[in-house]
Amino acid sequence: MKELHCIVPGCQWHTRHDTEAEIIRRTTEHLRETHGETAIREPMLETIKANIQPEKTRAA
Ligand SMILES: [Zn+2]
Repeated sequence: MKELHCIVPGCQWHTRHDTEAEIIRRTTEHLRETHGETAIREPMLETIKANIQPEKTRAA
């Protein structure tokens, strides 16, 4: 699992999924619906990708 917290400062939204592609899809949808970002451009996609992290697991 990978996870991503919204790239907009102060926004608490986050999502988790196995694939980076699905996380990017959900994130662009969230940016459109919640932040009014109608044009998702390449630099924003790069920022999204850079913020995808492996899901944090508790250390055994
Ligand atoms: Zn957000």
